[in-house]
Amino acid sequence: AFDTELQSDNAPGATADGHTIDLLANIGTAADAVRAAAYTDGRLVAGSGLFRTEVLFLDAPKAPTVEQQKGEYAKVLTAFEGRKVVVRTLDAGADKPLAFATQPDEENPALGVRGFRSARLHPELLTDQLAALAQAAADTGTKPWVMAPMVATPAEARDFAEQARDYGLEQVGVMIEVPSAALRARAILAEVDFVSIGSNDLAQYTMATDRLRGELSDLLDAWQPAVLDLIAATASAGRELGKPVGVCGESAADPLMALVLTGLGVTSLSMSVGSVPAVRFSLRRHTFAQCEAIAHAALAAQSPDEARSSVIALLDPEV
Ligand code: PEP
Ligand code: MG
Repeated sequence: AFDTELQSDNAPGATADGHTIDLLANIGTAADAVRAAAYTDGRLVAGSGLFRTEVLFLDAPKAPTVEQQKGEYAKVLTAFEGRKVVVRTLDAGADKPLAFATQPDEENPALGVRGFRSARLHPELLTDQLAALAQAAADTGTKPWVMAPMVATPAEARDFAEQARDYGLEQVGVMIEVPSAALRARAILAEVDFVSIGSNDLAQYTMATDRLRGELSDLLDAWQPAVLDLIAATASAGRELGKPVGVCGESAADPLMALVLTGLGVTSLSMSVGSVPAVRFSLRRHTFAQCEAIAHAALAAQSPDEARSSVIALLDPEV
């Protein structure tokens, strides 16, 4: 059924009753963008929900110029030809060190000067990037969405939004990947046009579990009730304010979790491109009301295992 569905149906991501969910690709380079945009002849991927711009500069000894950045961003915008592209500003951190931005001797780098906080020490890194994006938008005629990583407070969201709008960028958002941001999602959403939940870091910070430690993966699980609660709170704030809430962490690629997220009111899912067909298939087998019931069951569970099994019990038998 799966292959026939893929070949015969050009419809974008949606539930069985037509509630649409943008299915987007996570990318890090222009080559990723070209590959994702061409995937299944461009039928299944509605754009990019996470362009990790730091990936472009992992080997750069010094900060890239506005001109260099503009060229790379223009290639990505051109590859998607008017489809949605959510560009994330630099997220330098312990796991993604940038020679020109990462603080060398931090004792707890995951809790240190990373993501949007880097602009405290290097304000020009952020303003150069916003300038380059605005120029790439003007050159290509495609308007990107732009978001900041590791935002913890509504004041930071406002600061970022003001700076981005000063450069003429129109769709401005932040990532929700710190528990404080999820808890205050309504106040943050009041400052921006959209948010995107980074479930990898949200799980890391909610569960106090280093995402680089494989042996703790049972704790680092987006199905943990506490993580699901924060995702639900964020999605509910989005519904209340009528603003888009995406998910761009690994959990968006989980076909079961995709049903939960849809039922909670998440509006887009961004993932590695190869995961899109399975997520799309799972969504198309369930109505929005079924997704809501599935989300309800997941939130009622007391453990990740119970959450998964209560969702599996509600699945359409064909999945
Ligand atoms: C996340 O934290 O979930 C996320 C999407 O960002 P990254 O994995 O790049 O930190
Ligand atoms: Mg993150």
